[in-house]
Amino acid sequence: MAAVRGQPLQALGARELNARSRITNQQITPLKSTRKLESEVEVVKAEKVVPDQPKDKAKKKKEKLSALCKTPPSLIRTRTGKDYKRGLFLGEGGFARCFQIRDDSGEVYAAKTVAKASIKSDKTKTKLLSEIKIHKSMSHSNIVQFVDCFEDDVNVYILLEICPNQSLMDLLKKRKVLTEPEVRYFMTQVIGGIRYMHTRRVIHRDLKLGNIFFDPEMNLKIGDFGLAAVLHADKDRKYTICGTPNYIAPEVLTGKTTGHSYEVDIWSIGVMLYALLVGKPPFQSKDVSLIYERIKTNDFHFPADKPISNEAKILIQDILSTNPLKRPTLDEILEYDFFKGPFPEKITVETLVSVPDFSHLDRHQSQINFMNARRNAGLIQSSQKNPVEILRSDLESEKPKTILPQSLSPGNTKSKYKEVTDMAVRPRKIEESSSKLGKARRLDDDRKTYRTSIDAIPRFSDTVLQKECEGTLTGILAAERQARSRVPNRYSTILKTPTLISKWVDYSNKHGFSYQLSSEDIGVLFNDGNTLLRVNHSNSFWYIMNDLTDGWVAQEYKMGFIPHELSRQVEIADFFAKYMKTNLCKVSNDDDSLIEETEEIFLRRYTRSDLYVMFELSNGSIQFNFRDHHKMCVSQAGSVITYISPDRTSETCLLSNVLRDGSFPSVAYDIGLDEKLALIKEALKGKVNA
Ligand code: ADP
Repeated sequence: MAAVRGQPLQALGARELNARSRITNQQITPLKSTRKLESEVEVVKAEKVVPDQPKDKAKKKKEKLSALCKTPPSLIRTRTGKDYKRGLFLGEGGFARCFQIRDDSGEVYAAKTVAKASIKSDKTKTKLLSEIKIHKSMSHSNIVQFVDCFEDDVNVYILLEICPNQSLMDLLKKRKVLTEPEVRYFMTQVIGGIRYMHTRRVIHRDLKLGNIFFDPEMNLKIGDFGLAAVLHADKDRKYTICGTPNYIAPEVLTGKTTGHSYEVDIWSIGVMLYALLVGKPPFQSKDVSLIYERIKTNDFHFPADKPISNEAKILIQDILSTNPLKRPTLDEILEYDFFKGPFPEKITVETLVSVPDFSHLDRHQSQINFMNARRNAGLIQSSQKNPVEILRSDLESEKPKTILPQSLSPGNTKSKYKEVTDMAVRPRKIEESSSKLGKARRLDDDRKTYRTSIDAIPRFSDTVLQKECEGTLTGILAAERQARSRVPNRYSTILKTPTLISKWVDYSNKHGFSYQLSSEDIGVLFNDGNTLLRVNHSNSFWYIMNDLTDGWVAQEYKMGFIPHELSRQVEIADFFAKYMKTNLCKVSNDDDSLIEETEEIFLRRYTRSDLYVMFELSNGSIQFNFRDHHKMCVSQAGSVITYISPDRTSETCLLSNVLRDGSFPSVAYDIGLDEKLALIKEALKGKVNA
């Protein structure tokens, strides 16, 4: 399909309306017959889809079809009372012409306009109705949104979300080649859209640069579902030879009897990757039969004069495997080292005319940007092994089963304290923090070994937690030595109480572990390892991803702009917050001024045993809630200890001073300091040696 573009887009106004129109004020009727015809589509489409003709013949035929499309009237009036003003010509495909169209409210759409004269045969009618049906069923941020369709005497109109910044093909024509960071960004979005289709059993079958459009914000939107097919079951195959020569997968050409499936779209990703980085498709030739020959024999090369990274080459080579089963899956593609390079936060319209500069992008920022891009493309939620699946009814009808009724460590709850095998339920990966959550540790620069395979990735967050425990243990031992030396520490009076876990609810049998901090922030550590942190007195929350390769990466969101994928988590956090407020007492009567931290803190890991619950916080503090209702928190790398009494008063001292004096200054009774400290050391040792 050759994209013939009109003038650049402008706001629609009477002046810009296309003067070629000869038909005015014609009544438009909605496609009433769609229902009946849609059911026909199912039958016909399952058996025969419009096959590609040899190039020359197909070209002639396609040109003829879209040429039959007459310019729509300048005022399109529908029977439903909705009028549209037709604007500029946007482009032309093999089948349709596309125009700007504006409704009464000023909203602008693209009207894909198909001449009725071109859909006389059952085959073309079926093709169009299939396109409408499939496209209508799609709703994803990287797929052109279908809005409506109707017809008049001469045309069928498909109203679509407008993509005014042309297609990837247009961009490539202007820029000749794109940079790898841009390609990473664009491909993440495209993969998001394809993954969405595939999970709905839709194969696009015509993915190419010319069918992927830019919206006003330069987000990519996949369009043109003219060759798309729906599989009735995942194991179904399609047998029609269709597609665009340069992008067609080998199994489409050779598998007349064996058929093809989702992998044809993956193949197209490889072709697009190559084309964007090299400037032309890998199997290109003027002679279509030579293109097919090259595809079948996997005859492509990386030109020596184009500087393409090895990571890109490896990915392209793997995707362009002749055997469809050897191609990586969509999720696997995103795990390739290629996606670990510089990754932009967004792409601006300047990209259309000049080569963007990404030299400012460091690795940490790139990781965050990549994560956000995946989230925005809907790739994160569904790729998790243990997705949080919660229905509103869950929240309303069920109460947590393992709640602690009155206080943090209730009496007589022996049966409730069972060892949680060190986070077996929660995958923990590499640790990282955002700049805002500064108290969480950052990735050390020497940790640069990333691998493609998920299993091969070292569980770095384990190492970080282990080091934190080791540091705390060392600090405690140092404090013990200092106490033995009997030299008082002069800093004893200026210590402030660290942030503590003041309430918690273990609902990990269903959703996760919820807690309230003494700062009044509320967190939920979900079973998938991610955390949602509601910041007290703020209109925002943090979502902290325990990302596979990036570790803990946090992103702030405004409450008014909750991304769809996080709405359930927010709902759960709200539910827990309400629950804890009504049912649980706080651990201490802390005066806010005593809280030392100003930045957000979250729970990294919790461990429950018969004798205590251990909380490891992102600021390095480790809190122990003992079974006898006494609590202790060791902070500042083991040098500071906070004691919280059963009646919820707290006191923070240097550990060495407490050990030297044998007690906390204002605690007159025996709190079992030695036994508790022995338990703390044992727990820490256990974590260090784990
Ligand atoms: P065909 O089915 O005939 O191949 P396409 O869906 O590819 O038609 O659309 C034809 C042309 O119309 C595209 O190449 C593009 O220039 C323009 N176009 C299609 N959809 C949109 C859209 N949503 N926004 C802006 N232009 C569009």
